[in-house]
Amino acid sequence: MIIAVDGPTASGKGTIAKALAAHFGIPHLDTGLLYRAVGRQVALCGGDPDDAADALAACDFDEALLADPVLRDEATGSLASRVSTHPAVRAALFERQRAFATQGAGAVLDGRDIGTVIAPDATVKLFVTASVDARAHRRWREMIGRLGADSAPPLATIAADLAARDARDAGRSSAPLVAAPDAVMLDTSALDAAGAIAAAIAIVERAIAEKG
Ligand code: C5P
Repeated sequence: MIIAVDGPTASGKGTIAKALAAHFGIPHLDTGLLYRAVGRQVALCGGDPDDAADALAACDFDEALLADPVLRDEATGSLASRVSTHPAVRAALFERQRAFATQGAGAVLDGRDIGTVIAPDATVKLFVTASVDARAHRRWREMIGRLGADSAPPLATIAADLAARDARDAGRSSAPLVAAPDAVMLDTSALDAAGAIAAAIAIVERAIAEKG
């Protein structure tokens, strides 16, 4: 069973994907982390994230980098969004994601192009959305919790960054952020984490029942 969970930044897709993996007892891959590692690696090498050759060279990052908390920073997210526009980078990360998706009893993968490119054959595809306002508030509260109220960026800055990242992810020519035609939409704007997870589990269970 492959469960594809796609959606924009801070939509709740990561929380949902992790909970689905625990509920169904299958492994989970946060594919955004791979792009974040490439973005971080470019910066560590003093390369240019907008240069395809620099970004491709950074795909050969050290595995230990995946555990570095700096990958969670907004700055790294922005670098990830830039390196991910290069088709060569997406191709370099394809096999790793495809192998994860097709292992053993299945897997849950979350990202931007899981249902469209990595696993178009997924058993069930969720496209998780939420308004920019709801996502910015979520990210802001999370950053206040992590960095403290004095160090967290202003809400307006976070909302502007989110909107810029959405535009870049949706506007790129290679694997843009778009819902697969057969994806089930889940809007989490008015849901808390428990509500979003319950809704996602119900969608997957319905899809499994329908497929027999
Ligand atoms: O999901 P996350 O915010 O960690 O992803 C960081 C960036 O990596 C996204 O803004 C997007 O540009 C890119 N990404 C992608 N394809 C994926 C996962 C992430 O292009 N499957």
